Amino acid sequence: MQSFAELNPSQRLLLGPGPSMVHPRVYKALSTPIIGHLDPEFLQIMDDIQQLLRFVFQTKNQFTIAISATGSAGMESAFVNMVEPGDKVIIGVNGVFGNRMSDIVGRCGGTPIQIKKPWGQSIDLQEIEDQLKQAGGVKAVALVHAETSTGVMQPLAEVGKLCKKYGALLIVDAVTSLGGVPVKVDDWQIDICYSGTQKCLSCPPGLAPITFTDEAISIAKSRKTKVQSWYLDTTMIADYWSDKTRAYHHTAPISMNYALREALRLIHEEGLEKRFTRHKQSSLELFAGLQKFGLTPFVDESIRLPTLNSIKLSANIEEAKIRKRLLKEYNIEIGGGLGDLAGQIWRIGLMGESSQKANVVYLLAALAELL
Ligand SMILES: *Cc1c(COP(=O)(O)O)cnc(C)c1O
Repeated sequence: MQSFAELNPSQRLLLGPGPSMVHPRVYKALSTPIIGHLDPEFLQIMDDIQQLLRFVFQTKNQFTIAISATGSAGMESAFVNMVEPGDKVIIGVNGVFGNRMSDIVGRCGGTPIQIKKPWGQSIDLQEIEDQLKQAGGVKAVALVHAETSTGVMQPLAEVGKLCKKYGALLIVDAVTSLGGVPVKVDDWQIDICYSGTQKCLSCPPGLAPITFTDEAISIAKSRKTKVQSWYLDTTMIADYWSDKTRAYHHTAPISMNYALREALRLIHEEGLEKRFTRHKQSSLELFAGLQKFGLTPFVDESIRLPTLNSIKLSANIEEAKIRKRLLKEYNIEIGGGLGDLAGQIWRIGLMGESSQKANVVYLLAALAELL
């Protein structure tokens, strides 16, 4: 058999659509010796994570946990627990992730009702109300808060109230927003909200923070049909995370939970407001710098995300070639466009640890050489 070299990847500056940079304290936490997942000391760590997650989600929801899988499992968990065969779910589709939601709802036997918008736009409140009226008896409305494929931030403040008026649940994908821009689960009356660790929480990929209101949990508990997924059935996972039962369900990824706890501790130390301001500031600095090269934002300012910055490209820019050189010569990763936007935009992630003025300055300097 051949021999295999010791693992030694290049040191990249991660300014793409995720993963983002990881703080040294989080790497240190990852290398902490593991203990048993039912060890009282580990149970305390799970409690800490729950408290810290309630802090970042701005919620009092009891069921606020980290699912042992990536962000997509958060998405899947929201739908498999809520959707039973025949249920209608309104989904805002203005990028990649609304389509993924629709696919999952279909697999649950539900009926996805799509509100389609051109990529780069958000979903209007009026369009949601029209669909709620027209379809009738809608179980849930699902929206992507931060559409990573386009850089659009979906306004959410009024949607929860509207959903309540029509007896529908509100499910929100906050994978690229949580920890970078305000996500106010309680104020915005969101019923289920999920995220991922590797975007604005600046932890390696591997866990999906999620929160359910008591009402959403009781809906899961009173289903007519069993949740199709054994692994993501929240009624069982609730017993695992509950400080009363702690019933064995699966072995929590110990090291990832260590890492998440440290990443959340960093956010708590920094404070949410300061962190959101930092994200906004870096994004403004990036766009101000890009303007000097004649590059302009793809998304209108009123709905522009500071965590995922999409930039319009003119036809004379050999975008793939420049991205390749950024990676090879400067160790900088940025993202290209997906789907219809391939070749038309760049996606520059300024998430969590990545969102620093020094990183923006370095990227702009590298681009000045290449453009
Ligand atoms: C990244 C992302 C996901 C999926 O998360 P994974 O960790 O890649 O499974 C879901 N929704 C949005 C908006 C994302 O950006």
